[in-house]
Amino acid sequence: MRAAVLESYGEPLSIEEVDPPTPDPHGVVVDVEACGLCRSDWHAWQGHGEWADDQVPIGQILGHEPAGRVAQVGDRVDELAVGDRVAVPFNLGDGTCYYCRNGHGNVCEDGYALGFESSVPGAFAEQIHVPHADFNAVTLPGGVSAEAVAALGCRYVTAFHALAHRADIAAGDWIAVHGCGGLGLAAVQIAAALGARVLAVDIRTAPLELASELGAEVTIDATELENETRENDGVPAAIKARTDGGAHVSVDALGRAETCRNSVDCLRIRGTHVQIGLTTEAERGEVALPIDEIARWDVTVVGSRGMPPSRYDELLRLIDAGTLAPERLVTNRVALADVSDRLAAMSEYETRGIEVVTEF
Ligand SMILES: [Zn+2]
Ligand SMILES: [Zn+2]
Repeated sequence: MRAAVLESYGEPLSIEEVDPPTPDPHGVVVDVEACGLCRSDWHAWQGHGEWADDQVPIGQILGHEPAGRVAQVGDRVDELAVGDRVAVPFNLGDGTCYYCRNGHGNVCEDGYALGFESSVPGAFAEQIHVPHADFNAVTLPGGVSAEAVAALGCRYVTAFHALAHRADIAAGDWIAVHGCGGLGLAAVQIAAALGARVLAVDIRTAPLELASELGAEVTIDATELENETRENDGVPAAIKARTDGGAHVSVDALGRAETCRNSVDCLRIRGTHVQIGLTTEAERGEVALPIDEIARWDVTVVGSRGMPPSRYDELLRLIDAGTLAPERLVTNRVALADVSDRLAAMSEYETRGIEVVTEF
């Protein structure tokens, strides 16, 4: 089968014929019909991640946002049949550990990240193998296309789990979203779909305009807060003023020291900060936070990663019903051979909206 293989960091991926997967007893092979392109692919391609000891190995097939049709089924798979349409989460679980058995497969003790490690080659390929498929593969409702799932990618899934499950937002809550890249814009759209009032922060005009179109009631361009520096509490003060006392829930979708700190500082009493952005080389995973204030005001700080497969149904229902339409953000449909060019375009921040591989 054809696949795009990482042969050297930052260099064009090699489009080559590789051995197709065969299902292990608990696995299935899926014909990939669509796979989203994501900044996580770009980071992996660049060889980033060494500070967390998670650099993607050379020889890896990237691609972690797939949907497709089951082509082969292992002997011990019970729930899936050839021809079933499925989504495949990037955070795969073993289906048997304590966390998987309790519905938290996204944080499996023995989990794997599809497309980022050699045991689970990714979906920039004609086919993928899905291990522990009864547990990991998610059957799609009839109204949800493969392209919509690819457009959901990891961004909507991550944003949905963070807001609906980890922060448990309620209709009418003020939600602040710091950073309006793909992940932040997904958080804006989902928070609005769940009935929250959304305030979005960025330092660029175009993403803030998009945030407004997607449901943000208030936008703040941090560069326009005149004479308000970090020392006199610029962004958090502006948010508190516009939300009658602060956000109920605030999301750092960027992962920089300043956005993380602003997210905690903009909360109202008993607010919840959710960290979904991962840090850059500058932070290397460490950010200073006002711990005494967090204790003093009953503030909650939570992390969130991906979503357990058992809860995909809640998000897919929103798409099936037309409440969320991620495919509307698809701006470019490309072939496998174009993936390298599209990754290179991300280096210059030339991409806008969501790009999806639909031709393999
Ligand atoms: Zn597990
Ligand atoms: Zn992704």
